Amino acid sequence: SLTIGVLALQGDVREHVAALSRLGAQPIAVRRPSELEACDGLVIPGGESTTMVKLARIFELLEPLRQRVKDGMPAFGTCAGMILLADRLVDGAPGQETIGGLDITVRRNAFGRQVDSFEDDLALSGLEQSVHAVFIRAPWVEDTGPGVEVLATAAGHPVAVRQGSLLATSFHPEVASDDRVHGLFVDLVRAR
Ligand code: GLN
Repeated sequence: SLTIGVLALQGDVREHVAALSRLGAQPIAVRRPSELEACDGLVIPGGESTTMVKLARIFELLEPLRQRVKDGMPAFGTCAGMILLADRLVDGAPGQETIGGLDITVRRNAFGRQVDSFEDDLALSGLEQSVHAVFIRAPWVEDTGPGVEVLATAAGHPVAVRQGSLLATSFHPEVASDDRVHGLFVDLVRAR
């Protein structure tokens, strides 16, 4: 079966582990390079992207993460995870680093204060029925490179994208008791 890691430095790790288990994948929490090596694919959860990237550096995971993504490991980032997979940030913290890999510019905390958190039903390309999308201090995609497919939009901005084996959503499919978006990711891992 497929071993799919969940980056477990910070954020909502448990919900992703549960979704991956329900889909029949073998989820493992990733906190060290040896655990990352064992993964066929990796989920990067929501949480706080600045904290996550700092911890990745401290745990000596940042360079291995960049290398695995560069070598083609499938990865799926939700919310803060989307920020971590972005090549470029707008409104990042000063000097905020990312793993990168996705040819997108992401605007952090894009939806603004008055709508810090909201929910919406979105059409998502590749799924027949809409997804219930939960946004929590969410980013949006400001700009996409030519290889990037926009899978869903909200308020006129991309909130789900795919480029090769990399998938990212501004929202949190792991909290919506709907495993279909994780299912799309498991399919990407299997195809690889
Ligand atoms: N605003 C957070 C950040 O910048 C992301 C929020 C989330 O993951 N729910 O990292």
